[in-house]
Amino acid sequence: MEKVAVIGCGAYMDSGYGCPGEWRCLKAANLGEGNFKKPVQVVAFVKCECPGRALVPTIGMAMKLSEVKPDKIHLSSCLVNAKPGCPYSSPEEFATILKGNTGIEVVQGTHDYH
Ligand code: SF4
Repeated sequence: MEKVAVIGCGAYMDSGYGCPGEWRCLKAANLGEGNFKKPVQVVAFVKCECPGRALVPTIGMAMKLSEVKPDKIHLSSCLVNAKPGCPYSSPEEFATILKGNTGIEVVQGTHDYH
């Protein structure tokens, strides 16, 4: 089964708008819905923290400590679709930085639940 890491927007998650890392990404991953084409294993769930500088080291530490390299990294739908968006980086910039540092494919979004 494919292994994935999910990165959520910490600023959004801390606001508590009815999900913030509680279920939507995990449900979609488990059921193979939304941006997951089939059920996958979530091997890491990383919370981005403003201004996002620690994101690459944090995902790197998650891989090192868990001893699992995910096949893909998903930026959560709340990170990708936030309105207003992240003031520090676009989802595309995050993806480029993460792919450049880890070599892992980065997918924009996780689910389309409301
Ligand atoms: S840097 Fe952007 S994506 Fe990361 S927690 Fe802050 S607002 Fe969210």
